Amino acid sequence: MDVLVDGNRRFAETDFRPDLTMRPSLATIVISCFDPRVDPAVVLGVGQGEIGVLRNIAGRVTPRTIEELVMLREIGRSVGPGIGPGWEIVVLQHTQCGITKIEDRPDLLTPYFDADPGGKSVTEPHSAVRHDVAVLRAETQLAGVAVSGLVYDVTTGLVEVVARP
Ligand SMILES: [Zn+2]
Repeated sequence: MDVLVDGNRRFAETDFRPDLTMRPSLATIVISCFDPRVDPAVVLGVGQGEIGVLRNIAGRVTPRTIEELVMLREIGRSVGPGIGPGWEIVVLQHTQCGITKIEDRPDLLTPYFDADPGGKSVTEPHSAVRHDVAVLRAETQLAGVAVSGLVYDVTTGLVEVVARP
């Protein structure tokens, strides 16, 4: 904790931006993995306040992710037009993801997806991104939102565009 509080003091002195709003200035939400190598704002080179981020294990679109996106849409509607046309959701997954270490654990993965993990492409990020982009595009509660998908390579630092909006 001491490391983090010290870091916060430096942040507050030099980089704090009181002008930021709850709405990401790029009208973009990135769904990504817990993995500290894949901090979306860092690897995508964006600044404070430009994107909103939802992180979970593997950056997957689970029923909970949909619930959170719908909650965000409602929160946004309380202060403006809310998440809809003009917004983009980016699914960002990565190579060497830790979820592959539990690919043989349906006791963990079935409740995570609320479904048989067999069809969820747990072992390969390109297939998983394509799967999750399709889930979001089919979600009627998010109609009008553009959806795209990226795979980040932890050995090169580069993203590959798997699905364009
Ligand atoms: Zn991961």
